[in-house]
Amino acid sequence: MIPIPTHLREMAAEAEDLGEKLRFSLRCPCGETLFSLEESDLSPKEKAAERAHEKAVKALFSDCPYGLSLTYDGENFHYWKHLSEAKENGEKEEIPVPPGPQFTLHTVVRCRCSSCGRGSVLFDSRLHGYDAVTAEEPEAAQKDALFFRQRTKNPVRLQIEIENDPDLGSFRANTDLDFDEEQYADAFSWITIRSVSPMGKKKVLFEYETA
Ligand SMILES: [Zn+2]
Repeated sequence: MIPIPTHLREMAAEAEDLGEKLRFSLRCPCGETLFSLEESDLSPKEKAAERAHEKAVKALFSDCPYGLSLTYDGENFHYWKHLSEAKENGEKEEIPVPPGPQFTLHTVVRCRCSSCGRGSVLFDSRLHGYDAVTAEEPEAAQKDALFFRQRTKNPVRLQIEIENDPDLGSFRANTDLDFDEEQYADAFSWITIRSVSPMGKKKVLFEYETA
């Protein structure tokens, strides 16, 4: 059976072995099974900066009666303004596009117990999953304070599904990594978090491919 990632062991309940997947519910150490969930996102200020950049770029392209084309040199995109009707081989001029604002790239999902208020990180892309665990250098914190967006209106039951190789032996054979049981448990390749309604209806709130 796929092992439960180490940071989730304290809260994992009702684990189900699905072969290449492992499914379990969350239960707070206080016994509660209802949680709110939130996910990191761009802040309103960052979103505004992104929109302002998009608008500025759009303005650069406002006067292109013969159309535009886009090329990629393997590293950067280039925008070309056509200067005549003859598009393919006609004369064109590059429009320099300033780079957009750069924001944090990592993802954090956390839940909060509806009874005792205990907060728990369910997933942090810098720490959990195959890419994070096998990274030569751990990803540095890009920003101290992440902005979080609520993903639940009312407290819900949460179910987590993990994908990984079914046992340590096959993990070692597939990856050529000499991991121990705990490192392998944390090197899962996919995580899905679902809410489960009192009637048993499930909804995906978060999915992340980590490999
Ligand atoms: Zn609790």
